Amino acid sequence: MIKERVLSGVQASGKLHIGNFVGALRNWVKLQDKYDCYYFVADWHALTTGYADPSTIKEFTKDILINFLATGLDPNKCTMFIQSRVLEHAELDLLLSMITPLGWLERVPTYKEKQQELKDRDLSTYGFLGYPLLQTADIIIYRAKYVPVGIDQVPHLEISREIARRFNYLYKEIFPEPEALLTEFPKVVGTDGRKMSKSYDNAIYLSDKPEEVEEKILTMVTDPARIKKTDVGNPELSPVYQLHKIFSSREELARVAVGCRTAGIGCIECKKILIKNVFKVMEPIWAKRNDIVNSPDVLHEIIEKGTKKAKKVAEETMRLVREAMGLY
Ligand code: SF4
Repeated sequence: MIKERVLSGVQASGKLHIGNFVGALRNWVKLQDKYDCYYFVADWHALTTGYADPSTIKEFTKDILINFLATGLDPNKCTMFIQSRVLEHAELDLLLSMITPLGWLERVPTYKEKQQELKDRDLSTYGFLGYPLLQTADIIIYRAKYVPVGIDQVPHLEISREIARRFNYLYKEIFPEPEALLTEFPKVVGTDGRKMSKSYDNAIYLSDKPEEVEEKILTMVTDPARIKKTDVGNPELSPVYQLHKIFSSREELARVAVGCRTAGIGCIECKKILIKNVFKVMEPIWAKRNDIVNSPDVLHEIIEKGTKKAKKVAEETMRLVREAMGLY
C-alpha cells in the first residue's frame, strides 16, 4: 500500500527544547509508522531572520539532527535531510516567485508580527518577505499531502494551498494542495511561566545535562502566593504544575495539586517530583544522544542517505515543473 506523504521541518535557529519534543517531535515519531514522512532541518530559513550572523547555523543543524534520532525518528521509517542540500527547493522557490502576488506574502500574519517582535533586526529584506514562499516550495516539491500543524497555524498553510492552486491553474495539475494534519500541541511553559522559547531564555534543552535540567527546574517560578511552606497556593498559577501536567502521572498530579492548595507539600518537594518525572522521559534521549555524538559517521550516513532520497523526489517534481512551464 502506498503511504500518503507528510512533510515537516525545523528551522535551524536554535537548539531543540522539551517544548519542541512534546509539541512536535513526539508526534512526528508516531506519524512515521503511518505515513511516508519527510523531516528536514530548514537551514535556509534560519537565514531569513538571522542572516547577519550565520555562525551558529551549522551547529544548530547538527544538534537538531541528533535530536531527530535521539527522540525516536527512525531512518528506516522516515526520510531525514537538510534543506540546503536539496538545491531544487531554491529553484522551485524562484519559479513560484514569478506567480506569487506580493500582496499574498505581505498579508501573512507572521510577517508583521515577527518584524515587531525582532525589532533589533532589519527584516525589510526580500528573503524575510519570501519566507512563506520558500516554505511552500519545501512542502509542495515533495507533493506532500499533509503538514502536521496546530490549529493556530492552519492559516499559514493557506498561502501554500493558494500558490499550489495558482500553479496548477496556470500550467498543469502537478501539486496536491497540502492539507493540515491537525495535531494537538500541548502548551509548554518555560521556567519563567511564559511560553517555552529560546528567545525568552527560559527553555530546558534536550541537550542540557541532567544537572542543568535539575538546576533549571529548582529555580523555576512558582505561585507567588507561596512564600513560606505554610502558605496555601493555586497550582494553576504555577508553571511547575503546568509541566507536571505533561510529565507526571495522574496520581502524582492530583497529589501535587492537593498539596499545593493545602500547603501539604513544599515547592522544593514538588519540583523534585517533577525532576524525577522529566528525567524518566529524558534519560533514554540522553543515552541515545550520547551514542550518536560518539559515532558521527552514522549520523552523517543517515543524513546522506535521506538527502539522496529527498533529492530524487525533488528532481522528479522539478522535471515536471520545468516541462509544465515551458523551460528546457
Ligand atoms: S507546590 Fe508546586 S505547584 Fe504549588 S506553587 Fe509550589 S511548585 Fe508550584
